[in-house]
Amino acid sequence: MNRKQVLPEVKISANLSALRAVDFCAAETYLGTGFLPLKALPRLDLELTNCGPDDGFEWHIQTQFTADASGKPEQTLLLKLKGQVHLPCQRCLQAFLFPFNEQALFLFVPNEAAADAYPIEDDRLEPLVASQHFDLLGLIEDEILLSLPLVPKHPEGHCVPSNLLRGPDEPENPFKVLKNIKK
Ligand SMILES: [Zn+2]
Repeated sequence: MNRKQVLPEVKISANLSALRAVDFCAAETYLGTGFLPLKALPRLDLELTNCGPDDGFEWHIQTQFTADASGKPEQTLLLKLKGQVHLPCQRCLQAFLFPFNEQALFLFVPNEAAADAYPIEDDRLEPLVASQHFDLLGLIEDEILLSLPLVPKHPEGHCVPSNLLRGPDEPENPFKVLKNIKK
């Protein structure tokens, strides 16, 4: 038996102010995709000192209504994020490219009390309080911030060697000087 309800599918606008107020109390399913540059994510932008022109995140969102075990409709939201940022390596202090590919599945609940009562041992779904003006952009930014490494580091053995970080006023490599004398 197919318990999936067929509801009108609405395309989510990638416009930033529209993303800050999505009506998840409506009897509609949503589908949307877009790209967020770092400047659209102020809390994340604050954390990062170095960034490349291609840094940012492609997002993809899809909601769905299904019936729970007792037949009551429940709404889930699937968020997929793919992109890249430059993070400062805590070992050699040089920026490195961090590729990002995450997805999360959320369940809408009617209020904070229901979210608090949600069993934490269920790590398949995370509860979200549904609202008519839901801050989807905030959710995307939260998810990125939670998924970045606490102590970013190059993979083992990939740090920038300190001899390549030589400043312009440091002495020249003595071997290069000897080679010039031989000529
Ligand atoms: Zn490093």
